[in-house]
Amino acid sequence: MANSKYEYVRSFEQPDILLANTWIVVRIDGRGFSKLTTKYKFAKPNDRRALDLMNAAAEAVMKELPDLVLAYGNSDEFSFVFHKDCVLFERRASKLTTTVVSTFTSCYTFFWPTYFPDSPLTPPLPSFDGRAVCYPSDQNLRDYMSWRQVDCHINNLYNTTFWALVQQGNMDARSAEQELAGTVSSEKNEILFSRFGINYNNEPDIFKKGSVLYRDFSPPSIHSSPTPPRSTTSPPPLSHPRPMSQPLTSSILPKESSTSSDPSTPH
Ligand code: ATP
Ligand code: ATP
Ligand code: MG
Ligand code: MG
Ligand code: MG
Ligand code: MG
Ligand code: MG
Repeated sequence: MANSKYEYVRSFEQPDILLANTWIVVRIDGRGFSKLTTKYKFAKPNDRRALDLMNAAAEAVMKELPDLVLAYGNSDEFSFVFHKDCVLFERRASKLTTTVVSTFTSCYTFFWPTYFPDSPLTPPLPSFDGRAVCYPSDQNLRDYMSWRQVDCHINNLYNTTFWALVQQGNMDARSAEQELAGTVSSEKNEILFSRFGINYNNEPDIFKKGSVLYRDFSPPSIHSSPTPPRSTTSPPPLSHPRPMSQPLTSSILPKESSTSSDPSTPH
């Protein structure tokens, strides 16, 4: 269709090239996963199979896109970080975002039967939304990661307490919600410990903190540039993602983010 009389319609396209020399974060999030988790009877508050599936899909995305250096995920979301120097798709936001989202989605559905062999997918199939945001400084990127991780912590503490009240305290959802309204973190910890003997600190790190994948850049060698993505903890080069509890070899993430008391409730 090149040079046809129709060619002019291209000028209707809006430029969306992202600012040079900034970290690009593409965050994807499951659409309507509150419903989906009910449909497929996810264990509440945390279905480990579903987290492992998210991590497997994220690992596949990182293998497909060598410009990605880091990914952080929890619940039904994953944040993918493109290197500052990335010039993939001329840094066009729509191209980067849609490629991440569709690669993630197709991998998620492809791997589904491995993690949920007894629950075949039926329409409506899982889908994800996505957005791209630029972070100019390393501190901005650290703060972004801390923001997502604090969100994970707040949601998980709330969900853990809520489901303890429902599952072990035999409360209905409404009463549990009322019980938790306005409580701060210390009060939720106290409910868990005094009523259910649960020490929140002993909950698995993957629930409390989420998962991180990063690409391990080897010292400069004549062979390859970026190596395949690695998980934070697994001893062999390429295995499963690990909870975000250990120090990262990457220099762009905080070792640990604040988990201070907070009266917020999850969304
Ligand atoms: P939206 O389309 O606006 O994102 P949503 O229903 O997906 O709507 P979220 O805020 O993304 O809303 O919440 C995700 C939901 O999926 C939460 O209810 C969360 O508890 C649930 N969820 C995600 N992962 C798991 C998991 N591994 N185990 C159990 N529940 C999960
Ligand atoms: P990009 O990632 O830049 O889009 P591309 O290889 O997908 O790269 P396109 O310009 O999108 O490039 O071209 C799509 C290619 O797929 C063409 O080579 C086209 O001939 C081929 N193709 C698409 N659909 C079919 C089909 N149904 N049968 C045979 N070939 C097809
Ligand atoms: Mg084409
Ligand atoms: Mg959402
Ligand atoms: Mg969602
Ligand atoms: Mg979400
Ligand atoms: Mg094409």
